[in-house]
Amino acid sequence: MSNLRRMYGYFRCNKCNHGWESSQVYCRPGTETAAYKQGCSTCKTELFPYRVESPLLALWRDRLRL
Ligand SMILES: [Zn+2]
Repeated sequence: MSNLRRMYGYFRCNKCNHGWESSQVYCRPGTETAAYKQGCSTCKTELFPYRVESPLLALWRDRLRL
């Protein structure tokens, strides 16, 4: 469990369509598969991120408004 990498994840709830982003997504090294689900703040559905990227890339994306 200690070798998980922290990543930036994008979520979209398939139940209520609520979307959110999180910098607290943990993936197995060398993969973009999240190890844990996150709960939707609106309807409490647990789901995996539909997209994961490195925190550095997410930071630049936010800064450059890409
Ligand atoms: Zn939801």
